[in-house]
Amino acid sequence: MVFDIDMIKSVYAAFPKRIAAARKAVGKPLTLTEKILYAHLSEGEATKGYERGVSYVDFKPDRVAMQDATAQMALLQFMQAGRSQVAVPSTVHCDHLIQAEVGATKDLAKAKDKNREVYDFLSSVSNKYGLGFWKPGAGIIHQVVLENYAFPGGMMIGTDSHTPNAGGLGMVAIGVGGADACDVMAGLPWELKFPKLIGVKLTGKLSGWTAAKDVILKVAGILTVKGGTGCIVEYFGEGARSLSATGKGTICNMGAEIGATTSIFGYDEKSEAYLRGTDRSAIADLANEIKEHLTGDPEVYASPSDYFDEVIEINLSELEPHINGPFTPDLAWPLSKFAAAVRENNWPQKLEVGLIGSCTNSSYEDISRAASLAQQAVDKKLKAKSEYTITPGSEQVRYTVERDGFLGVFENMGGVVLANACGPCIGQWARHGAEKQEKNSIITSFNRNFAKRADGNPNTHSFVASPEIVTAMAIAGDLTFNPQTDTLTNEEGMQVRLEEPAGLELPTKGFAVEDAGYQAPAADGASVEVKVAPDSDRLQLLEPFLPWEGTDLKGLKLLIKAKGKCTTDHISMAGPWLRFRGHLDNISNNLLIGAVNFFSEETNKVKNQLDGTYGEVPAVQRQYKLHNIGSVVVGDENYGEGSSREHAAMEPRFLGVRAILVKSFARIHETNLKKQGMLALTFDNPADYALVQEDDTIDIVGLDTFSPGKPLTVVLHHSDGSTDEIKVNHTYNEGQIKWFQAGSALNLVKENAI
Ligand code: SF4
Repeated sequence: MVFDIDMIKSVYAAFPKRIAAARKAVGKPLTLTEKILYAHLSEGEATKGYERGVSYVDFKPDRVAMQDATAQMALLQFMQAGRSQVAVPSTVHCDHLIQAEVGATKDLAKAKDKNREVYDFLSSVSNKYGLGFWKPGAGIIHQVVLENYAFPGGMMIGTDSHTPNAGGLGMVAIGVGGADACDVMAGLPWELKFPKLIGVKLTGKLSGWTAAKDVILKVAGILTVKGGTGCIVEYFGEGARSLSATGKGTICNMGAEIGATTSIFGYDEKSEAYLRGTDRSAIADLANEIKEHLTGDPEVYASPSDYFDEVIEINLSELEPHINGPFTPDLAWPLSKFAAAVRENNWPQKLEVGLIGSCTNSSYEDISRAASLAQQAVDKKLKAKSEYTITPGSEQVRYTVERDGFLGVFENMGGVVLANACGPCIGQWARHGAEKQEKNSIITSFNRNFAKRADGNPNTHSFVASPEIVTAMAIAGDLTFNPQTDTLTNEEGMQVRLEEPAGLELPTKGFAVEDAGYQAPAADGASVEVKVAPDSDRLQLLEPFLPWEGTDLKGLKLLIKAKGKCTTDHISMAGPWLRFRGHLDNISNNLLIGAVNFFSEETNKVKNQLDGTYGEVPAVQRQYKLHNIGSVVVGDENYGEGSSREHAAMEPRFLGVRAILVKSFARIHETNLKKQGMLALTFDNPADYALVQEDDTIDIVGLDTFSPGKPLTVVLHHSDGSTDEIKVNHTYNEGQIKWFQAGSALNLVKENAI
């Protein structure tokens, strides 16, 4: 048993009183989302209702989960927090760094060798500070969490955008950056703007070729990639209760593709069956005792438009299988219209590869239904025309589906079983020939299909569908094939039809596994040594950032005036830089290399004010650092949108940038900057952006009376001797000003721990 039953008992014990207090504070019946959020207020019981989409609220999550690429910086920060143990149950999952090339066994062995020092580091830190550690090969974070840790009514944060997968089992599970994870592990509250709520009423029942995946593919088409921003999506209705827990997980997982904060289903018989099926009857028994608190109030579902900010209704009995793409997950095509779309848009009709599995779609139900089609292919003498790969989500699923013969069926059809890891889903795919950048089509049961995501080839047209549709398409090798209406020619020249897929939600013989790949932390971590080689190029222990010197900041140089969109990818690029996520000095060499310089309209080329030459942004900033000269980055609207990666705030801080001055910030990035002790400032008059010149030396004045709501002054000293004095705003509260003064939020956490 890896889950913490005592923690769940104490969460549930508080539910009735907290939910009654919340109902009183809000003054009306509650959605499930509200119940869970109000039951997790860091202050305890609600004394007032919060305004959706407006109020910032401190929460106390029950768990933290981290994947290996993001856990490195989260744990390096946690090591500075001065704590001997994590304050809430937390886990690390080694899934992102395993590259798919030839098949599970060889790929896993290669990854273990290549990433040894990162794995050793994560393992030893987990051991020391009391985190559960899931070794490479154990599985993908979200599947492992669903099988082991998710529980109805719980609240979890995870350093991965598909953390909402656990909503399938009734948990409010939200993707965050490593700095947030560090705070929660250190026992601090976690702040979130109280979300708006979208209700999705599901009626009817799935049948035939349609799967749970088609629900979210349809929703993505309705809401688009931005439609869920700032919202939690709550599913309900008789159709919701008819879906398996893992099917619900798939739907919640892909809520990330509509920008939703998270998605959730209520506790029902399917949740109970999954808990019991995954050896967690103790949780099911506890949940049954408070089950009225683990769904929304009946009045809410009877009249949803009175309680949700937006309501969508989908009849599962009428829902068609969908295929979404290419290049964006919200371009939704009902299967009956897809073939025409392929022809009209001139998308490559020949299907090169079908890929099933991943954290999104590798449940027993998914695999058994896909295998029923693979078996038909073998029986009906059809050879799969496309390459076909299977990525199990966990060792428990892999072992069980192998025992039950499904992997063998896939192999008979020519399928290749990949490691239980992210692999092609995150670009960790050594796809043969991708470097030629040929136009081609692939179809996956994954969640994202942005250009270059799977194989780095911008011309790969990637489509997303259910594992059943992916399998049928791989057998046909043709994107215009419609298994509901079309026949295929077999090896004997006969026309044959694929019958509807069939499978089981849960294995009749139960799940089994020999070695799930879990490492429990040491009973006493005090003597555990954390391994970081001083000459490592992948890991580097963090040094605390220096505290504020107590004076105004004078004589700063303009590093770059960024023009237009400047996302976290422009500030701290991903791709090949993924390997340096645990080494702040090395990853800082990608600082702002994607940002467009306002003055030259070029990327990664800025003026070095020390000698008048032009150089790469990180190199110029390192020159300023060498001469102990601070700098300022100026930006446009919504600076720092995109992912919550804290590297985008840590890198400029590390290299000596003192302030980011922009027209407006993306909120998470603004918070990340504050946490790292940076000044995050906005122009009072956005038109003042135009006043900033390439040769400017900059003063920031008013820091001795830095206080909430009080603007600061920026003085721009131009090279012609003239100056401009402009008013700049900030959103620092008292506590955040202390972060700035201490040098970072972490420095303050550490001070308070001593
Ligand atoms: Fe993210 Fe894909 Fe891994 Fe899932 S399988 S955690 S979506 S990279």
